[in-house]
Amino acid sequence: QTTILEVNELRTYFPIRKGILQRTAGYVKAVDGVSFRVNKGEVFGIVGESGCGKSTTGRSILQLIKPTGGEVIFEGQDVTRLNEEAMRRLRRDMQIVFQDPFASLNPRHKVSKILEEPLLVHGFGTVRERREKVAELIETVGLNASQLERYPHQFSGGQRQRIAIARALMLRPKLIIADEPVSALDVSIQSQILNLMQDLQQSFQLTYVFIAHDLSVIKHFCDRVAVMYLGQIVEMADKESLYSEPRHPYTKALLSAVPNPDPEGPRERIILEGEVPSPANMPQGCVFHTRCPMAEERCRHERPVLEQTSHNHAVACHLYASPAV
Ligand code: SF4
Ligand code: MG
Repeated sequence: QTTILEVNELRTYFPIRKGILQRTAGYVKAVDGVSFRVNKGEVFGIVGESGCGKSTTGRSILQLIKPTGGEVIFEGQDVTRLNEEAMRRLRRDMQIVFQDPFASLNPRHKVSKILEEPLLVHGFGTVRERREKVAELIETVGLNASQLERYPHQFSGGQRQRIAIARALMLRPKLIIADEPVSALDVSIQSQILNLMQDLQQSFQLTYVFIAHDLSVIKHFCDRVAVMYLGQIVEMADKESLYSEPRHPYTKALLSAVPNPDPEGPRERIILEGEVPSPANMPQGCVFHTRCPMAEERCRHERPVLEQTSHNHAVACHLYASPAV
């Protein structure tokens, strides 16, 4: 297995400014020390409630937001240190698909123009070659070349997401960060788009970082999953291991909300008390302690680190910490 992406201790903080002088009065730690590796050809899921930092993680990897610290190594290069020209070349290899395809497609442009744009920006081919490529890609995502002269509003939500996916594919990327690509769609359409993405993964040999807000959407799609809470990864495992043996109390709660078709294993729904604390005012100790049903005294002072509990499973929780040697 080859590593295509390695994220080391990624931190993305946003300053909180106060008063007339706009002095920095603290930081929102949107991403606070996130590390993971993604293998070539794999689907790596990042799951957590809104505000947990998963979108910021995705955007920081692509340098759409400049991270405060840490490394993002894509195919051996630390992209946080590249100059603009090198970054521009790299942008072809890493693309993003956003949650809301309507907001991400220019309403004033015809689909033909929307799809041609990345080719133009990167100086690809002649007018005719670009046209052919655009026609080819629109069919690849299940639409028709006769629809190219329409505007985004003339399509349904699912079709718009197909267009956004086609645009992401124009430059033959290696990695796609999919930021909740089906969350805004009707449930009946969601599986169509997921199936399309799965087919494309094969034919284009893609690697996905797939961001989702619950564990049900990615259940059949991901190979490995990281669960995020307040800017940190609290658990990371192979899909099988995570779904059958969740360890972190937060993952257990998230998983208890996933409908379980197995009559042998009815799970009780775990309802978490309280709200997610503001990332501007991070709890001391374990970030989850204010809502954790298992919290002990030390959870309020000591921050657990993400520790390997078996070869394919890591968790950040004092309940699983190996005893000090
Ligand atoms: Fe809960 Fe403590 Fe584990 Fe945090 S470290 S998840 S508060 S038991
Ligand atoms: Mg988001």
